[in-house]
Amino acid sequence: MLKIILNKKIPSFEQTGQSPHPWIFRNSIKSVAGNPDEGDIVSVVDATADFIGYGHYSEIDGIAIRLISLKKEEYPDPAFITARINQAISFREKLSARISSDCVRLVFAESDGLPGLIADKYGDLVAMQILTSGMEKIKSEIASCFIQAGFKGVLEMQNRDSRQGETEDKGPLFSVGETGPENMIIEENGHKFNVNFSSGQKTGFFMDQRDNRQIVSRYVQPEMKILDCFSYTGAFSVYALKQAQASALLLDSSEEALAMAEKNLLLNGIDDSSFEIRKGDAFSLLREFRDRNLKFDLIILDPPKFAPYKSMAKKALRGYKDINVLAIKMLAEDGILATFSCSSGVSSTDFRQMLERSARDAGRNFKILEQFHQPPDHPIALNCPESEYLKGFMIQVC
Ligand code: SAH
Repeated sequence: MLKIILNKKIPSFEQTGQSPHPWIFRNSIKSVAGNPDEGDIVSVVDATADFIGYGHYSEIDGIAIRLISLKKEEYPDPAFITARINQAISFREKLSARISSDCVRLVFAESDGLPGLIADKYGDLVAMQILTSGMEKIKSEIASCFIQAGFKGVLEMQNRDSRQGETEDKGPLFSVGETGPENMIIEENGHKFNVNFSSGQKTGFFMDQRDNRQIVSRYVQPEMKILDCFSYTGAFSVYALKQAQASALLLDSSEEALAMAEKNLLLNGIDDSSFEIRKGDAFSLLREFRDRNLKFDLIILDPPKFAPYKSMAKKALRGYKDINVLAIKMLAEDGILATFSCSSGVSSTDFRQMLERSARDAGRNFKILEQFHQPPDHPIALNCPESEYLKGFMIQVC
């Protein structure tokens, strides 16, 4: 039996009915019995030998154990994992009146009791990201489960971090069933988008911004000048330019993303005279725009993750402040900024404080018009505050 003994007493689910945080760090471990391998399932007990749960073990990950099951009689074998996945799928089916898209997050890691697994629906296909060695070991079983649920194919995407830029390794790591063409067209809230499973970031499309794109687009008026900074494949601009005859400047560091953005704008019937595309580093291009005294009526700032963990929050907030000060300075009279953070390590409160400081540095006042969140197919697990990652504000300078 692979058993981990913790060095303190913690309230267990069996005693309190409340789920503990699913992460166990190495410094909470007193002893390890049975020599577990990377990704093995271990049983965890606390310092008073009370059962805490079963989880995936790792020597490499900063998090030593991610708990999966909290009941002694529920060993997380493939049948258990299959049941959890089916539960996650059926929860999304119940959201069908709330979400109007071919793309839905089916499994959101800790929030669905499946740490290390992300699975997104793209029509008939599922694109997954495997984040732990425990899930890596059972990925064939996971893929079969989606096939049994009626999906035609399952792809495992590269774990590409957009901050590291474009990598050479393209294409899915693993696939089961029909994978279809590399490129597919999906529809979200009535807008069409190309998704490419070889060159795309994350699982291909940022479906977590679905609601926020709609909210932002409702503020777009004819003649507005829009800056879509960190545009990726242009989704915010597509929504905005379909709303009204405005013009947009899209900025991103990825050439592939921008080529796709252009295709997406044209696919949605947007005239090529109403948008411009600029490839480059946002931190330096925003400075260039400021120096050229450019002004925008609406700026969207949707940067990649700066802080996956709390320990990186301070540095991340400096990065956010840098781009937000520049953006606030470039807002025209009554201009609007829709600014986001997808960093788990930065709370909404910290982000708002950063925004207040940015406005002070830029010498401007603002009011908050909207607060942005992640959508319900990316639910927040109360026992895992890190699962609340997407936050944002729409502010108007005054
Ligand atoms: N707004 C997009 C998602 C943005 S994801 C949407 O709605 O789909 C973050 C984007 O930032 C990625 O496209 C990535 O290529 C880009 N990026 C990362 N670092 C960058 C940098 N330093 N300058 C400009 N773009 C950057």
